[in-house]
Amino acid sequence: MSTPLVIVGSGMAGYGLLRAVRHVDRGRRVWLYTADDGCAYAKSQLACGLARGKMPGDLVLASAEQMAHRLDASIFTHTRVRAIDRERRVIHTDRGEQAYGELVLALGARPLRPAPLRGNAASQVLTLANLADYRYFRNELDGRRRVAVLGGGLLGCEVAEGLVRAGCEVTLFEPGNRLLADLLPVLCGARVARTLHAAGVEVRLEDGVQSIEQGLEDLELLTLSGQRLTAELVVAAVGTRPTAAIAADAGLAIGRGIVVDHQLRTSDPAIYAVGECAELGGRLFVLHEDIEAAARVLAGVLTGTQARMSWQPRLQRLQLECCPTVVCEPPPVAGEWQESATPRGVRALFHDRRGTLRGFALVGESVSEAARFFGAIRH
Ligand SMILES: Cc1cc2nc3c(=O)[nH]c(=O)nc-3n(C[C@H](O)[C@H](O)[C@H](O)COP(=O)(O)OP(=O)(O)OC[C@H]3O[C@@H](n4cnc5c(N)ncnc54)[C@H](O)[C@@H]3O)c2cc1C
Repeated sequence: MSTPLVIVGSGMAGYGLLRAVRHVDRGRRVWLYTADDGCAYAKSQLACGLARGKMPGDLVLASAEQMAHRLDASIFTHTRVRAIDRERRVIHTDRGEQAYGELVLALGARPLRPAPLRGNAASQVLTLANLADYRYFRNELDGRRRVAVLGGGLLGCEVAEGLVRAGCEVTLFEPGNRLLADLLPVLCGARVARTLHAAGVEVRLEDGVQSIEQGLEDLELLTLSGQRLTAELVVAAVGTRPTAAIAADAGLAIGRGIVVDHQLRTSDPAIYAVGECAELGGRLFVLHEDIEAAARVLAGVLTGTQARMSWQPRLQRLQLECCPTVVCEPPPVAGEWQESATPRGVRALFHDRRGTLRGFALVGESVSEAARFFGAIRH
């Protein structure tokens, strides 16, 4: 019997690849290893799950057993891959060794911890990066209302809004001078900040938390600006880093993530990487459309077609109910944002040096223009 295709990871990338392989090849032996419980779910539902008071089980689309049955694969849950022996084409797992014909790393990204953070309760800062985090966070939230959210990026804004909608009192800390600075130009970010504030989030720009001490009842926070306040929970949303340690230890090329070519192949021709752990042409995979597209390309490559991954413009709708926001991120080219604001919305257009529209961001009522601008970019 031939050595199996081995996939490591049961997130959108790992399961996306398994699904795409099954579209073109029902007979291939596939073994999937995952450090978690292997439940299929959408990360985009975590923040709105909080808002709607959903139990963790409500977010599960299918269990590992159901996925194994539907996709005809052997799935090993709660099994971490510890090392890759490239010479012998073997992985070392918690259950022992496993030989591979081809190996796909779909390891995701891990949340960063805010640093430097002092105080005897600094380790109590929670994250919300996966279903296990959600389960823990929901338990901790039970009976508590006052939450501090660290980080004014996309996840921080979505979590802050979700918690306010769930009835919490939320303070959102962002050390920079605007929200969503990596994603939106100035006026758009300012409008989101204003709308979140109007929805009940206390937005603190140019401020963060420097230490957390356990008080008699509450957590006592000292902010960067020297103010003292209390909270019952602190959640960090300060970014993620691709999970690449086992790839690095095995000597694969690493940049910010595991470096792959347009066929998702790493520097070892028998090993591929897909999803948030991978880096292609200096870019990381963040959006689920890009991850799904890469999974389809990789399924083609693994079944003998000459597919290639290329970056396409994507329309991203932020999960902010109080403030409809749509972004088509421009590619990394020289150019300029031009923004215009009305009381009802903000429109920002990004043109390159030749004057061609390459990206846009729309907030409030301006989102109705998304299809028109997106059509213009794709032509
Ligand atoms: C809260 C949140 C909201 C988001 N919302 C959106 C959104 O609205 N729209 C959007 O486009 N994107 C969104 N994203 C981003 C997108 O969901 C992610 O990029 C995507 O889910 C990543 O999928 P992945 O399979 O690469 O990684 P993950 O889903 O993190 O999966 C990684 C898998 O690898 C396993 N693993 C890791 N190391 C090992 C090991 N050594 N051995 C075995 N298994 C291992 C893990 O257990 C896990 O199963 C969001 C992300 C988050 C965190």
